[in-house]
Amino acid sequence: MPVSRGVAIGRAVLVASSRVDVAHYFVSADRVEFEIDRMRHARDTVAAELTTLQRDLPDEAPAELSALLDVHLMLLRDEALNGATKQWIVDRHYNAEWALSAQLEVLARQFDEMEDDYLRERKADLEQVVERMLRVLARDPAEATAANRAPALAARDFGGDDPLVLVANDVAPADMIQFKRSVFTGFITDVGGRTSHTAIVARSMDIPAVVGAREASRLIRPDDWVVIDGDAGVVIVDPSPIVLEEYRFRQRQNELERARLNRLRHTPSVTLDGQSIELLANIEQPEDAGGALQAGAVGVGLFRSEFLFMNRDGDLPGEDEQFEAYRAVVQAMRGLPVTIRTVDIGADKPLDRMSIQELRHEHVLNPSLGLRAIRWSLSEPGMFRQQLRAILRASAFGKVRLLIPMVAHLHEIKLTIEALARARQQLDDAGRAYGPVELGAMIEVPAAALSLSRFLPHFDFVSIGTNDLIQYTLAIDRADDAVSHLYDPWHPAVLGLIAEVIKGANDEGKSVSVCGEMAGDPAFTELLLAMGLRSFSMHPAQVASIKQRILRADTRRLAGALQKVLVADDPQQASAQAFTSSAGHVVEGR
Ligand code: PEP
Ligand code: MG
Repeated sequence: MPVSRGVAIGRAVLVASSRVDVAHYFVSADRVEFEIDRMRHARDTVAAELTTLQRDLPDEAPAELSALLDVHLMLLRDEALNGATKQWIVDRHYNAEWALSAQLEVLARQFDEMEDDYLRERKADLEQVVERMLRVLARDPAEATAANRAPALAARDFGGDDPLVLVANDVAPADMIQFKRSVFTGFITDVGGRTSHTAIVARSMDIPAVVGAREASRLIRPDDWVVIDGDAGVVIVDPSPIVLEEYRFRQRQNELERARLNRLRHTPSVTLDGQSIELLANIEQPEDAGGALQAGAVGVGLFRSEFLFMNRDGDLPGEDEQFEAYRAVVQAMRGLPVTIRTVDIGADKPLDRMSIQELRHEHVLNPSLGLRAIRWSLSEPGMFRQQLRAILRASAFGKVRLLIPMVAHLHEIKLTIEALARARQQLDDAGRAYGPVELGAMIEVPAAALSLSRFLPHFDFVSIGTNDLIQYTLAIDRADDAVSHLYDPWHPAVLGLIAEVIKGANDEGKSVSVCGEMAGDPAFTELLLAMGLRSFSMHPAQVASIKQRILRADTRRLAGALQKVLVADDPQQASAQAFTSSAGHVVEGR
């Protein structure tokens, strides 16, 4: 499945899902020896730990345990691990952690191919040994800090080495967020759906990616040349020179197209018939605010605050830390509105680094229907009020809107409003400043869409989360590649709900926007305009393409064709016919 547009070409680096969070960076030539020493130190520390463990085994411990520790010690000292790991550092300038996991990947494949059951099972021992070494490296005080890491070092700094793409069974959303600072130019995963949060983060970072490639991590070998076509959802392994040339050509074309679109940055987004359309940005981290402004967004329509809660080794961000993050966004946006969504933890966004499979099989059977988003927040009232206070305090520095995810019940709204009143009271008592904050609901559960008239009086605005609305309307897990072919944004039931919500909010004079992936997909721009939508929130990278379509649209003509699309058995086809012809007419008219 295509996830994030563009083409990436590079050599494959295979990383086990559980080790995607291992630091991957290049070390400069003068740090190679230092890195080898770190690796040796980790090995010696683990050897000492294992020896102590073996020595202190109680008498009644089974003999196998001591034999197992012998195997671990033997693996630890094995040249196939040490010599080759060192070679990764010397030849490729990988940091010690990366070199170790790269070598583990090579050896694991060799183990997988062994005929003998006993030997094949030793892979797990090797993994345990390497995990131990990685843990030692992680707590090593000499671990390269961000400053030491020379993040600017790219593969080409080492004698014409090639760009790298990551291949993994799965990448958790929390790990995806680290990608921006990584050395990889694209990624492929075996599992995942188009609107899984891993895919969403990739899209927001504009990294070419393909997910749901099923067997990719088994079939692709380390160092294979790989083309990732993030537009078509195609992965080509070991391409012929002519195919490679074709894709390099496409890469250049894409760059030109982006530069062309970039020129629209300061053009106001107004339709041909003079309707002003608000284009907002979806962001995951405070640092993304700069990109939102640069893309020409007129505010943040969705700040997914849950990403502040990830990658934290257990603790949660306190009120002050959150406040600083929200204030940073508000100030970076220079007076433009910032919509902060309260934490949406759960489903495919676990707090720690669980993969989707782990989450599904080991924890909750159906996390998307579980304790997620506002349900989680209401079950942790202290945490929730902390977040509300932090958001309220940030509103003293600019225009802040508060957005509640996954609302489905009226009592959730009442409890949220009470929590908000309490948070305001606490700030008053503490003498802390805060400004006026509008309250909005995500409409992303069919029940909410169908209860809109009951919900609207309690809110200043609504934002349609099409990613979840599709998931919950069609009963299709958005992160499950096995049913991704049924995840259909064009389903008449989905379109019907979206149209109703937009109309219902417009009729009541409440502002409504779409912040799901549909808002950033040019295939839906005319349809959403026809439904009466005047506010779209999307990844900054998509703002220019959507603006281009808006500039060519005439909402009067579009609205006239809406009904035809909504009653069609195949709305996608009907939309192409109805809206392309109207857009075509307009373009000719120009
Ligand atoms: C949505 O569901 O459409 C949405 C915007 O929220 P998220 O993708 O974070 O679930
Ligand atoms: Mg959602």
